[in-house]
Amino acid sequence: MDFDLSEEHQMIRDMTRQFADEVIAPRAEQMEESGEFPYDIFEKMAELGMVGIPFPEEYGGSGGDWVGMHLCIEEISRADGNLGALLDVTTSVVGQEIFVFGTEEQKKEFLVPIARGEKVGAFGLTEPDSGSDAGSLRTSAVKDGDSWVLNGTKQFITGIGLENASVMLTAARSGMDGEGRPVISAFIVPKGTPGMSLGKKYRKLAGKALPANEVILEDCRIPLENILGDPGRGFAQHLAVLETGRISIGAVCVGMARACLEQALSYARERTQFGKPIFHFQAVQFKLADMSASIELARNQVIKAAWLKDRGRRHTFEATVAKLYGSEMLERVASDAVQIHGGYGYMDEYPVSRMYKGAKLLQIVEGTSEVQRMILGRILQDSGGKLW
Ligand SMILES: Cc1cc2nc3c(=O)[nH]c(=O)nc-3n(C[C@H](O)[C@H](O)[C@H](O)COP(=O)(O)OP(=O)(O)OC[C@H]3O[C@@H](n4cnc5c(N)ncnc54)[C@H](O)[C@@H]3O)c2cc1C
Repeated sequence: MDFDLSEEHQMIRDMTRQFADEVIAPRAEQMEESGEFPYDIFEKMAELGMVGIPFPEEYGGSGGDWVGMHLCIEEISRADGNLGALLDVTTSVVGQEIFVFGTEEQKKEFLVPIARGEKVGAFGLTEPDSGSDAGSLRTSAVKDGDSWVLNGTKQFITGIGLENASVMLTAARSGMDGEGRPVISAFIVPKGTPGMSLGKKYRKLAGKALPANEVILEDCRIPLENILGDPGRGFAQHLAVLETGRISIGAVCVGMARACLEQALSYARERTQFGKPIFHFQAVQFKLADMSASIELARNQVIKAAWLKDRGRRHTFEATVAKLYGSEMLERVASDAVQIHGGYGYMDEYPVSRMYKGAKLLQIVEGTSEVQRMILGRILQDSGGKLW
């Protein structure tokens, strides 16, 4: 048993922490205000090798592992949750799906620029009538000569609206199986393919610098070889990488919650009421104590799930707990951080106001808290609760 981070992990943590403090944090407020994505910051993250940490060097990565990747996501999210969330989508979900299921040619063409951070990958699963029940998706893929022809609408697609977005991985019905059930396959759709267009850019509660768009596929023709992995297991492939996405969302939550705690603690030590800093009122101190305890638990869970993944061991339960507990923890911590700031916490110039608004997303995206509980319910049913 060893809870120490390796030297390599410590290096990643220290490097990303310093970068986040010096380069990202000072710009976080302005990014939210302007709604402009910080391309220059993402370029620097790419140069420092942050985007492709878990991929081998031959595919543009840094040859690290998933514990390292999640330490990076946590530290980046401590300064700005949107950049952490983008790392989740482009690396943990899209990059990984191409790495694990792609052909050699697909990895060379699509993974390398994503792992190097020169390009960003987007993930197109959700549709107007298919969210939590993702298997009910309607987008269709029909083989025609040397092409697949895609038709359908995807919504809330993170990152596809960025200038450096290169592809959208998408799931579509490509036929029926022997029992009359739809077969779902995964496809790589390069951005700019004729027939693929961006619909509206959503106006969001927070995270304004990271665009989410509707994507319309209308007789969108992609080469036959752009099918990703096993044609009959596209949905299972998506679910497999979303399992890592759950760890990554957990890491985003831990990073953002740490920032809330730091802000609330420093405010509580400075703000004086009734003749002393409010930190000395037990009601305030207990809030801070609870925040630190729950962050510690969520953080351990994220690292444990990533550690299991690095060892090729099952981690569905651990990843689901990391997402569920992490996102619910973040909402509580962000709310308490605003409460400790009193009226000032409601004002835009205090970072906790931005974090509070941003926190809600993490209980929804990549599977709502209810969906996570459904997954845990199934695990309990199958295991009879014998999990430890
Ligand atoms: C900012 C943002 C970015 C996003 N980015 C992406 C992206 O890049 N790619 C992508 O594919 N998707 C993306 N999404 C979509 C996101 O993953 C979905 O919003 C989420 O999975 C929920 O789906 P839904 O919105 O359709 O809600 P619904 O599925 O309609 O759910 C509505 C409510 O009903 C509950 N519910 C549904 N079914 C059950 C059930 N069986 N039991 C109990 N409760 C249930 C849900 O938990 C929720 O509370 C993004 C969403 C947002 C907000």
